[in-house]
Amino acid sequence: MARSTVKRAFKYRFYPTDAQAAELSRTFGCVRLVYNKALDERTRAWYAEQRRLSYTDTSAALTAWKRTEELAFLNEVSSVPLQQGLRHLQTAFRNFFDKRAKYPRFKSRKKSRASAEYTASAFRYREGQLTLAKMARPLDIVWSRPLPEEAVPSTVTVSRDATGRWFVSLLCEDVIDAYPATGQAVGVDAGITSLVTLSTGEKITNPRHERRDRAKLARAQRELSRKQKGSANRERARRRVARVHARITDRRRDFLHKLTTRLVHENQVVVIEDLTVHTMVKNHSLARSISDAAWRELRTMLEYKCAWYGRELVVVDRFFPSSKLCSRCHTLAGTLPLNVREWTCSVCGVTHDRDVNSANNLEAAGLAVLACGAGVRPQRESSRTGRPAKKQETQRATAGIPSP
Ligand SMILES: [Zn+2]
Repeated sequence: MARSTVKRAFKYRFYPTDAQAAELSRTFGCVRLVYNKALDERTRAWYAEQRRLSYTDTSAALTAWKRTEELAFLNEVSSVPLQQGLRHLQTAFRNFFDKRAKYPRFKSRKKSRASAEYTASAFRYREGQLTLAKMARPLDIVWSRPLPEEAVPSTVTVSRDATGRWFVSLLCEDVIDAYPATGQAVGVDAGITSLVTLSTGEKITNPRHERRDRAKLARAQRELSRKQKGSANRERARRRVARVHARITDRRRDFLHKLTTRLVHENQVVVIEDLTVHTMVKNHSLARSISDAAWRELRTMLEYKCAWYGRELVVVDRFFPSSKLCSRCHTLAGTLPLNVREWTCSVCGVTHDRDVNSANNLEAAGLAVLACGAGVRPQRESSRTGRPAKKQETQRATAGIPSP
């Protein structure tokens, strides 16, 4: 059976001492300040002088800032997270210049995730104890699942969410055994009424508590909006909103993990549609029932799990008319408004459930790509969007699709 070595993150909750919490909060603040200052400099250099600053330039600037009186406090925290912040900024710019992302934005104290990344020189991991730079004691981590034996973390990310919970994520190398081969393929359609619909006809709805939690969230948000700015009541209301939000996100992630593990375990080939945020935002009813965040998360999980377990993920071109194509006779229907849940093919007379038909078409398109062998690299998407094809391990499907 095939084994592969992969980088894998293990995330745990931990409880800092008061001193550790103060040290980390100070570090988060410095990381944000350095990031924002570097972004400011890069922006100025670009707009005023059409000059692109590099990571090295900003790193040199950081050294200079540390020598000034007003920024001398930057020396008090570990320098590694500050450098890592500059590296993240570099990545953000690369994504912007490659047209994969918008122009980098400033990190806000309230809205951005408070986090700091430590590389190997800035932490010690020994006998299950993790100690960060500038700290005397190891972190009190709740080891909710074991780290793989002999795992050596290469990067450690500490974060605090909006409800005040602390997390540490350890990036480790892990050895994974591929699943035994199955002949199965499945098409996964981002449903309108359900979260996803499978080509087997199964409709998977949102996690059980999602609807109730969403109602709670809406109520908490209304209450927050009524509270006076700066008041203690407002702070309490803000925490409440954050708590409900965190619960929704946690439950959804848990749910998506179970779903993707199941799909990857049962199927050799998983076929999804290339739904971009852009297409979904335009389409409000779709955006409501499957939030873009959930879909992105689902896709990311499928991407890495397929790679880990020796499966094939096929991403079908977003211009493929999966819902309008009759999966029986391949006739293309006319317009199909989003509120149409069922439709009858005018040629073969079969009545389709919109989502199941769509999932069936995805499955067929995915299988067609596999039949053509690997290396099907249609140019269509890159030429239409001006973007380079992103992932190598995910194949894009346009070959074998009957042209309307
Ligand atoms: Zn038909």
